[in-house]
Amino acid sequence: MSEPRDYGFETLAVHAGAAPDPVTGARAVPIYQTTSYVFDDVDQAASLFNLQQFGYIYSRLTNPTVAVLEERMAALEGGTGACATASGHAAQVVAFFNLLRPGDHLVASQKLYGGSINQMTHSYPQFGWQVTLVDPRDPENFRRATTERTKAYFIESASNPDGIVADIQRIADIAHEFGIPLVVDNTLPSPYLCQPFRWGADIVVHSLTKYLGGQGNSIGGVVVEAGRFDWFQNDKFPLMTEPCASYHGLRFAETFGTFAFTVRAKVMGLRDLGPCLSPMNAFLILQGIETLPLRMDRIVENADRVAEFLDSHPLVRWVSYPRLPKNRTPELEKYCPRGVGGVFTFGVKGGYEMGVKVVDHCELLSHVANIGDTRSLIIHPASTTHRQLTPEQQKAAGAGPEVVRLSIGIETVDDIIADLDRALHRAAKETGVLVTSS
Ligand SMILES: *Cc1c(COP(=O)(O)O)cnc(C)c1O
Repeated sequence: MSEPRDYGFETLAVHAGAAPDPVTGARAVPIYQTTSYVFDDVDQAASLFNLQQFGYIYSRLTNPTVAVLEERMAALEGGTGACATASGHAAQVVAFFNLLRPGDHLVASQKLYGGSINQMTHSYPQFGWQVTLVDPRDPENFRRATTERTKAYFIESASNPDGIVADIQRIADIAHEFGIPLVVDNTLPSPYLCQPFRWGADIVVHSLTKYLGGQGNSIGGVVVEAGRFDWFQNDKFPLMTEPCASYHGLRFAETFGTFAFTVRAKVMGLRDLGPCLSPMNAFLILQGIETLPLRMDRIVENADRVAEFLDSHPLVRWVSYPRLPKNRTPELEKYCPRGVGGVFTFGVKGGYEMGVKVVDHCELLSHVANIGDTRSLIIHPASTTHRQLTPEQQKAAGAGPEVVRLSIGIETVDDIIADLDRALHRAAKETGVLVTSS
């Protein structure tokens, strides 16, 4: 497509980055299941390796099927470029690999996916990257935690699992006062429901594994750049601005301008760390993206109904769903007016044991460590995804002992509700929790 920005979101979700195959006319995106690409001659090979010419060398760096996915994600987020990765976690590492050197510092929200908290607090220190976690509900916490060595802020647009929507614009403004970029994990709402670049974010990362792929069959991730950040405004980003020894002294920001972050993510991040996305997974995720708008509308509709049902259930203490009238915040209305997806938590009466049993007794809902599927999913975070965290960290992340996490799918909503109701009553019977109102 020649000028993708002219089209609506639904059109981009189906078409952006793709064209009929010029050789065969194939309408679906071909799966280029190849490791490498024949060079025209030695000179062409040399100019590809020198980054003087764009083209395909080796699928650890670039692949035509993966490139369609990257263009589509850049179009959906309104960015200038994207780098697909093997997983959402790999996207985070590749993004920070462009920004941080040993001794550098990151201020991150404490309302993050449990795996991200693990990654940042346990593994980033191995690279010499220091992380401070702050409560994102007061944006000033980011300013207070900023040091001389802080090179980025990191938030989830809507947090996994409790759907707290961050004040993206305020946090971006504070980041820019310090001359550093805001990196946003936009996995939960997906670009259909939230577009962080509209509010000043500089880099977006995704786990494509969730709503974008949408059918629970492939792990993937992506880094997208807005193309607006001025790397030369200070001396904080030598990786972007200073000569790169491994490319004959090339300076990424100078040579590649508005898509320099993406180029560096591929030619340094993917080249040297190695977490490339396979062409097969790129193809499967592209299939998912085509129906993203349809699925998200249905998922939000179903989640609204399930949350309402649970909120009036005698065995449920509280429901975190951000669209319940009593939970609505100005941030929700501003950044995610049409919903944040179908992931939310609720607290059962009877604590840890009751939470585990509710999960056990569900029959339609699958007990899995995933979200964003067509199927409805359930898990007890304290005994699974958030198990490695301390009790204090679990509570701060919205994953205390009584918490059950749902990811509502696209099934008939009455069936989802009936399954949860049956599981709650069976669990109460076994644990001796009394059914009382309030
Ligand atoms: C799942 C998830 C990740 C990690 O993505 P993977 O594809 O599992 O590596 C990161 N952030 C959020 C919000 C997630 O839900």
